[in-house]
Amino acid sequence: MAVEQMTGRIARDLEYLKRFTSTPGKGCTRLPFTKEAREAVDFLKKLMEEAGLEVKEDTAGNVFGILYGEDPSLPCVMMGSHYDSVYNGGDYDGIAGIICAIEAARQLQEQGIKPHCSFVVAGFCDEEGMRFGNGYFGSGAMLGHRDLDYCKQFKDKDDISIYDAMKSYGLIPERIEEAKWKEGSIGKFVELHIEQGPVLDAEEIEIGLVDHIVGIQRYMITVEGRSDHAGTTPMDMRKDAVEAATKVISKIPDWAREKADGTVATVGLIHTIPGGVNIVAEKVEFTVDIRSKNNDNINDIANRIRHALERETEEIGGSFNMETKLVITPVELDHEILEIMEEKCKELHYTYKYLPSGAGHDSLEIGQVLPTAMIFVPSKDGRSHCMEEFTKYSDLAKATQVMVGLLTEITRE
Ligand SMILES: [Zn+2]
Repeated sequence: MAVEQMTGRIARDLEYLKRFTSTPGKGCTRLPFTKEAREAVDFLKKLMEEAGLEVKEDTAGNVFGILYGEDPSLPCVMMGSHYDSVYNGGDYDGIAGIICAIEAARQLQEQGIKPHCSFVVAGFCDEEGMRFGNGYFGSGAMLGHRDLDYCKQFKDKDDISIYDAMKSYGLIPERIEEAKWKEGSIGKFVELHIEQGPVLDAEEIEIGLVDHIVGIQRYMITVEGRSDHAGTTPMDMRKDAVEAATKVISKIPDWAREKADGTVATVGLIHTIPGGVNIVAEKVEFTVDIRSKNNDNINDIANRIRHALERETEEIGGSFNMETKLVITPVELDHEILEIMEEKCKELHYTYKYLPSGAGHDSLEIGQVLPTAMIFVPSKDGRSHCMEEFTKYSDLAKATQVMVGLLTEITRE
């Protein structure tokens, strides 16, 4: 297969998709259940049809293109990603994985490879959670993890619920559960995605084989003391919330570093209340985001934070609250699929590296229940979720070649 031809078609399709944004000239903004989402889905449907796939749009806003195998009753192999974006995001995150999956379907046919089981290209709705604050909506619905209550529960900044947004998009939210695929109908899932981090680009490696998607725990922590005059209150008569909070915060990076396995912990927001230069703070609010491929490490850091908060707030005679915002357990991706991909990298003489994904993906949702693997393509300078996001079309084509090699093998079963 000519990689130049693949590069050309991937470039053509991704360039065309750039127009479906609500912020032209300011990056890609393609939120779920909007005009831009509709335009992108219609274009994907056209590409799928032209590639000889049978197109299906489901009740959750996902779009599928099916290349029937010799025995369509077998569990299918699915490859895809998401078509939504963040605000002012890039032109590759998510959508590149769908375009490369369509190219893979073209390749299978042009190379005369008749899959034994069906091959399905998937374009998922609302992975980012940018509009309603949740995420993995479409892939979750495919697995039967979304229902009517869920659709009514989450609202966007204009107070429009998923339920209302779906209706104005032309979907019937009452039928959301019909988006679930029959138990056993999907055999394996593979996702091609840009790395969104700097490792591959910095080390000049062509292919990333993702062996884990990290788990995440997120907390909102409030430390309460007492506000007093900054000049008249002696140091040993204060209940300084900043003193207690910062003693805890300052230890968190080292606790993550100690794990020495890529575990990261971030305090991204700190807020003092009332927040005056001459006032001892009564309250400090801060967030903690802990990620690791090892769930025990995440739990351990969360426990250490809790104990340190107990100790330090007792010291000042204050109190604290540690509110859980998000808990996602890490997913180990499928070793068998990864080994075949590694084999294909060697055959094609592409450099590769095993690495974890520090960001969540549809594969995080799907990998909880199905054999799943991901392949990463280098992101220039690791930039993503911004206008500067850039991945070379030729690199996408190389990863697609690896995927085609993989698909040739795993659709034979
Ligand atoms: Zn993505």
